[in-house]
Amino acid sequence: MTDQPPVRTTTPRQARPAGAPADTAVRETKPKDAGVRQVRPKTEGWQQAKDETGRPLLQFASPKRGKPPVHLADLTHDERIAKLKELGLPGFRAKQLEKHYFTHYTSDPAAMTDLPASGREELVAGMLPPLLTEVRRLETDRGDTIKFLWKLHDGALVESVLMRYPGRITLCVSSQAGCGMNCPFCATGQAGLTRNMSAAEIIEQIVRANALIAAGGLGGKKSSDHSLDRVSNIVFMGMGEPLANYARVMQAVRVMVDKDHGLGMSARGITVSTVGLVPAIKKLADEDIPVTFALSLHAPDDGLRDELIPVNSKWKVDEALDAARSYFDKTGRRVSIEYALIKDMNDHAWRADLLADKLNARGRGWVHVNPIPLNPTPGSIWTASEVPVQNEFVRRLNDAGIPTTLRDTRGKEIDGACGQLVATEEDEAAAEATPVG
Ligand code: SF4
Repeated sequence: MTDQPPVRTTTPRQARPAGAPADTAVRETKPKDAGVRQVRPKTEGWQQAKDETGRPLLQFASPKRGKPPVHLADLTHDERIAKLKELGLPGFRAKQLEKHYFTHYTSDPAAMTDLPASGREELVAGMLPPLLTEVRRLETDRGDTIKFLWKLHDGALVESVLMRYPGRITLCVSSQAGCGMNCPFCATGQAGLTRNMSAAEIIEQIVRANALIAAGGLGGKKSSDHSLDRVSNIVFMGMGEPLANYARVMQAVRVMVDKDHGLGMSARGITVSTVGLVPAIKKLADEDIPVTFALSLHAPDDGLRDELIPVNSKWKVDEALDAARSYFDKTGRRVSIEYALIKDMNDHAWRADLLADKLNARGRGWVHVNPIPLNPTPGSIWTASEVPVQNEFVRRLNDAGIPTTLRDTRGKEIDGACGQLVATEEDEAAAEATPVG
């Protein structure tokens, strides 16, 4: 199929002076170089749910399901003390439980010998109820990448992927069971949103990964690597749209960065990504927690993005980029633009130029771009761009002054890439056979 891409008619290249309004009007008109191959997005092997107007259905509200039990990580430190007092226990037990859970990664009462034996089991059951049951684990040959399939208390399935890199360990976490954003290329989005995950269900993915690392279960460490043996980086790029589960994701982030009563991680190592929920991006910028913010853009023109990322029908490319720029203005944190390179769909040279223009129109030094070749599926319309095309895309952005780094597709051999996490039939069968708890 051939389609005509838009062409740039304005190319604002100057840095915006501080305080000056952005000239972000990069107009898109018809091209001189018609005939560029253009594959349009469509679903393969599944039907996209549509709303009454025929548009892809967007689900923002979590369906009503039984809530997971309240856990220590759902509460602030003060709320933990209050809950203990309600149970007739001294407040300082909160600190003890926090240490066991966030530092020693355990919810096992037998390991908590500083708590009185009498009533210990009940106390731990009340404050640290089981949340995730491991159903399956897949790992690469070198053992440096591990994908976990977890069953939640109500049988919903979610996944996380643990990856060791030189000097850091990254965990890709899920924030929702399923997803309501209905992106046609995404395995997770196919079944819609099952429910929001609780803050503690998000945190438990990290605690379980840390327990595994502490027990020597993550391979690939080089003798020259003296980094700590625990998760140092979090990316919210597993199942779900994190900003559609805003309050719980933010509670989880607060627990991650809390040095006294949580995991004590660096905010900079935490990447919150979104497909572009503009009001929530603005809220995030006001949080005063300098997490790294990533916008999953995947197309610089509304014509394509409307089809590729259905939420673009609500908030357009320019609105999402403006919100991303204001995130930088408020936090001083450089924004990441994620861009999955899909063959003949969004990988055209003119799209690299248009993206560069739109980013430069909002100033210099505030953004970098991470193109990532899509995991190839033979015969699918969703196929990774050819290597020379990837390189050209990156070159054009770099030449336009936008720092751009091609990301690797770690986890490819175990389907670990963002948006490709979904339970297979085999997973479902294994989950059926796994008792919760
Ligand atoms: S790509 Fe992300 S936002 Fe889109 S459906 Fe998949 S998980 Fe949801």
